[in-house]
Amino acid sequence: MKKMNKTEADVIVIGGGISGALAAISAGRAGRRVLLVERYGFLGGMLTAGGVGPMMTFHTGDTQLVRGLNGELIERLKQNGGSPGHLFDTTGYTFSVTPFDAESMKLELDRMCREAGVRVLFHAQLTGCRKEHDRIRSVTVQSGAHTLEITGNVFIDATGNADLSVLAGAPTAKGRPEDGKCQPMTMNLKLYNVDIFVVRRYIHDHPEDFPMLKGDTSIIDNAPRLSTGGFVSLLQKAREKGEISFPRECVLFFETANPGEVIVNTSRIAELDPTDPFDVSEAERIGREQARELMDFVHRYMPGFENAKLAFTGPEIGRRSSRQLKGAYTLKVQDILGAAKFPDAIACNAYPVDIHSPTGDPKGNLHGHLQAGEYYTIPYRTMYTPEIKNLLVAGRAISSDFAAQAAFRTTPCAGAIGHAAGAAAALAAENGDVTCLEYARLRELLLEQGAFLPPA
Ligand SMILES: Cc1cc2nc3c(=O)[nH]c(=O)nc-3n(C[C@H](O)[C@H](O)[C@H](O)COP(=O)(O)OP(=O)(O)OC[C@H]3O[C@@H](n4cnc5c(N)ncnc54)[C@H](O)[C@@H]3O)c2cc1C
Repeated sequence: MKKMNKTEADVIVIGGGISGALAAISAGRAGRRVLLVERYGFLGGMLTAGGVGPMMTFHTGDTQLVRGLNGELIERLKQNGGSPGHLFDTTGYTFSVTPFDAESMKLELDRMCREAGVRVLFHAQLTGCRKEHDRIRSVTVQSGAHTLEITGNVFIDATGNADLSVLAGAPTAKGRPEDGKCQPMTMNLKLYNVDIFVVRRYIHDHPEDFPMLKGDTSIIDNAPRLSTGGFVSLLQKAREKGEISFPRECVLFFETANPGEVIVNTSRIAELDPTDPFDVSEAERIGREQARELMDFVHRYMPGFENAKLAFTGPEIGRRSSRQLKGAYTLKVQDILGAAKFPDAIACNAYPVDIHSPTGDPKGNLHGHLQAGEYYTIPYRTMYTPEIKNLLVAGRAISSDFAAQAAFRTTPCAGAIGHAAGAAAALAAENGDVTCLEYARLRELLLEQGAFLPPA
């Protein structure tokens, strides 16, 4: 019979996206033995594997809300030439955007993990979970022919899709309440060799094609990297000619830290289930077809993109939403729009409710913005269920309704939630119970680690 290798740590983090990586670093800095398990060979999740960017948004008005480990990551990237830092959001959608170079992001997360003493296990896929009563005893991961059983005191599910929670038997929900449909999947494209000077000039000359700018194209000159959405009439024309097969109203694109390198967030794969393995496989295939349509489109129609080359579609299709934990508290869209300040706040955020229509019909795109200076908070109770004492969920899969998730899901807040999960796990590792952690201790540790929290 095949032998199962065994290992252990105080805190086990499954998933090395922004939330899992920052969770591991936080727990490591707090002195715990941490093992971070990631199925790819690098950290960063959607930011590095899905071609997602820029990080959006760290601010409300001029106030930086997301600080702590996430803020430190950006400072380190700035120092190493991997990010120009927080810039004015020239899409006009949020308060700031933070472009970065994806290779620098991978490296900096490696370094921060190493400095925090985190052991990282790459190329390892979570496959199972063993429970005793209301506690997870161990998880099983597979790396090639190696099966590894990992025991620990506290487990953090940072898989984005609540995979560990499901394997542990935790209650979860999926999609919008009326029909369970999730936001569409998108295959982001990363292009290089885009002439941004020509693109800017085109925007100034055709304000009507960039409705997000509401007639004021001067805002695109407020930042050294261009982010915008538009080319509306050109996309419409191509759709009428049958050159674009999917429903999207504008081309949304973001220059990265590297001048002339652009992320195109425009493909749209609706009505498939992001938790169904065959649906996700189909989405990957359709995503590549749409990527080809988009490349033909940008070459044919978009001034400044004539010589653009496709660098990357990434190893993984982008899933905006899938499962949410059903936790001790379910964050509601009213909490987001009402700028709720919870007594157990672990993160603050001001990204708007940003729902991409689950059916692809543009009427289902919904937005809910906060005023500059306003922000909402994320309560600690969204990260655990009373049913499993030593499990925390980090990142976009915490306990919330469908519409609230559409606000906190982006990477600054997902990272801030991860930071808090790591700090909580470090403290709860003492008795292996995250459900009775004293909030004051968590708050103190988070503030020590540089997080921004509302006054107590
Ligand atoms: C198309 C698209 C565009 C977006 N645009 C933006 C944007 O412009 N700005 C922004 O800030 N946010 C954006 N987002 C949102 C953002 O990318 C995600 O919500 C965020 O990355 C969530 O972080 P996370 O750590 O929760 O999950 P992820 O980033 O998904 O990380 C999960 C990690 O867990 C690993 N993993 C998963 N399952 C397993 C397993 N079973 N075993 C081992 N490892 C596993 C994955 O490989 C991954 O590394 C976008 C999302 C999508 C899909």
